[in-house]
Amino acid sequence: MTDLMHRHGGVVRTRALVAAGAHHRDITRAIRGEAVLRVREGVYALPSTDPHVMTAASHGGELACVSALRALGVWVLDPPGRPHVWLGTKGRVHAHGGCRCIDHHDAGHATFGVTGLSLALVQASRCAGEECFFVAYESAWNKGLIDRAERDWIRRSVPARYKRLVDLARADADSGLESLLRLRLSRLGIALDCQVSIAGVGRVDFVAAGRLIIEVDGEQNHGSASHRHKDLVRDAAAAALGYATLRFDYALVVHDWPTVERAVLARLQALRGAVVG
Ligand SMILES: [Zn+2]
Ligand SMILES: [Zn+2]
Repeated sequence: MTDLMHRHGGVVRTRALVAAGAHHRDITRAIRGEAVLRVREGVYALPSTDPHVMTAASHGGELACVSALRALGVWVLDPPGRPHVWLGTKGRVHAHGGCRCIDHHDAGHATFGVTGLSLALVQASRCAGEECFFVAYESAWNKGLIDRAERDWIRRSVPARYKRLVDLARADADSGLESLLRLRLSRLGIALDCQVSIAGVGRVDFVAAGRLIIEVDGEQNHGSASHRHKDLVRDAAAAALGYATLRFDYALVVHDWPTVERAVLARLQALRGAVVG
């Protein structure tokens, strides 16, 4: 019985168990032995099931939208909050303790578990805003989680104004910070060359106007003295070749964007002035 539940992602209805040959007394025995948990009337879960998936099942559907993206290992900009649940076209909400769920009623038949990645991205486009969608889309692509056919389906399925975000997206964004920075600078009309290899310097995240290197440091690099030294060596090598370098971290890109914007605009203006002079 637990094998069957594993195959269903950990959560099943009684009728699926019975259809597969389980008897009601097997289910009762499994619950008593704590091999299986009762989610609600007629729905059972393995104790190892992700608690968020369990909450979505209590609510009546699949973990969806940004909650599914996070569960699937995709970069999600917004901090974890209320669970998003896909109920399908006809699914109805079940009352459960402490419910703060956000309902999704996209077409289709929801079961339990985690909504597929492509649908979760489309749900996020309708629910979570442009930046959250774009960052998650690039992250999913970068991790090799959406193939060409899936990307085409997503482009067809998102609202019209999101199609240009799909067109702007690339496969080589290593972090959500890079995606966010590129999207925000593109809104200012600043195009960036991405993952540029510069002889004597190495691969840099971005180059703007052919002269300005922009690097985005992920959280994992904080406080490492050897990393800091490597950055200084790279910056010096780049300066010797005539490049200027700006570096931004998570806190700046996410929480203090105006500072980033002013720095980039001022440096680009200075570089243009230098060329003219
Ligand atoms: Zn949502
Ligand atoms: Zn709920």
